[in-house]
Amino acid sequence: MTLPYPRSDERRRMVDLQIAARGISDPRVLAALRDVPRHIFVPSPYDRDAYADTPLPIGNGQTISQPYIVALMTELIRPTSMDIVLEIGAGSGYQAAILSTLVRKVITIERIEKVAAHAHANLVAVRADNVEIILGDGTLGYPPSAPYNGIIITAATPEIPDPLKAQLAEGGRLVAPVGGRSLQDLVVIERHGDRFTEEHHGGVRFVPLIGKYGWE
Ligand code: SAH
Repeated sequence: MTLPYPRSDERRRMVDLQIAARGISDPRVLAALRDVPRHIFVPSPYDRDAYADTPLPIGNGQTISQPYIVALMTELIRPTSMDIVLEIGAGSGYQAAILSTLVRKVITIERIEKVAAHAHANLVAVRADNVEIILGDGTLGYPPSAPYNGIIITAATPEIPDPLKAQLAEGGRLVAPVGGRSLQDLVVIERHGDRFTEEHHGGVRFVPLIGKYGWE
């Protein structure tokens, strides 16, 4: 990534006031949020508000998550520079771009072709060249690159899809908004053989995960 991008003062303020102030402390995660130009991922006219403390529309009825939630989900999978990470729900591509600065390889799956095309253009614009976008139903995961050290589901799911649990590496962590269509609980599972430990991180609101192992 070529640095620094414009609006770095807004990003610094965003990180201080919205993200560090709410307890995100991993310095690599904070640096990623400071470096990646979020305004590139938000279509006009909302790009003006790209550094505000809120989700924003990205077209096709979809949204880019609030910056704090992106930071929280990123920190929760404990990314390292050796990792391969799978994201379900590419959306704008912003979460994938954040991950791309922290891990070796990112695979992100998107079911809406137009949304995937925008995500691709955005990721090219920021030179996130270790991200691969797959068009399809992310509830099935992506077996060719499995197992994954981390999996981030960025759409609301009634339960964690079994194929994604199966594609998690030993010690790998998966974060997902699990619950109803309008309100979910941010859940983390961590794999130990055939067992999964589970943590809960509070209420969130995401657009629905639509697919074989999600909503109809
Ligand atoms: N992570 C995104 C925001 C995701 S919004 C960002 O950083 O901007 C949720 C996205 O999940 C939407 O684009 C929606 O089309 C997509 N989605 C929903 N169900 C899906 C599925 N089964 N497979 C892949 N993508 C899905």
